[in-house]
Amino acid sequence: MKLLVNFSRGKGRGPIIAQVVRDTGVLINVERAVIDSSEGEALIEVPDDQCKLVRDTMTRLGAKVNILEHGINLNESECIDCGACISICPREVFSFDPEWKLKMAEERCVLCGKCIDACPHKALTLPL
Ligand code: SF4
Ligand code: SF4
Repeated sequence: MKLLVNFSRGKGRGPIIAQVVRDTGVLINVERAVIDSSEGEALIEVPDDQCKLVRDTMTRLGAKVNILEHGINLNESECIDCGACISICPREVFSFDPEWKLKMAEERCVLCGKCIDACPHKALTLPL
C-alpha cells in the first residue's frame, strides 16, 4: 500500500521515516521524496497489513498522511493514444498494447505528476 506523507522539519523534529521504522519495526520503501530544510513530502510503500500502524504512528509524530488506493488517473474518453506520456514517465507506467492503445501499469506510479503536463488532452489527473 502506498502512503503520501507530508511533514514539517521544524526545530527539534527528528527524521520521521527513520523514527517510524525504529518504533514500529516496519520496513518502509521510499519511492519518492522531496525534502528541504523546512518541510518534506514522501511517497512510501508499506505492507498492506501494516499500513494503518504506519499511518497512525506518522500522524502521532505530526505528519499528514494520505493512503493512496490508486496511481495516476486516466480518463480513457479523453486519451488519443498519442504516446506523449510514455517517454516522460520515469517509471515506465505507460506503454502501447498490440493495437497501439495506451495501457498502464498503475502500480508502478509514484505520483510525480510529470505526465500530467505532457498530456495534450488533459486525460491524466492526480488521484488526490
Ligand atoms: S505521475 Fe509520474 S510516475 Fe506516475 S504515471 Fe505520471 S509520470 Fe509516471
Ligand atoms: S499523453 Fe495523454 S492523450 Fe497521449 S497517450 Fe498519454 S494519456 Fe493519452
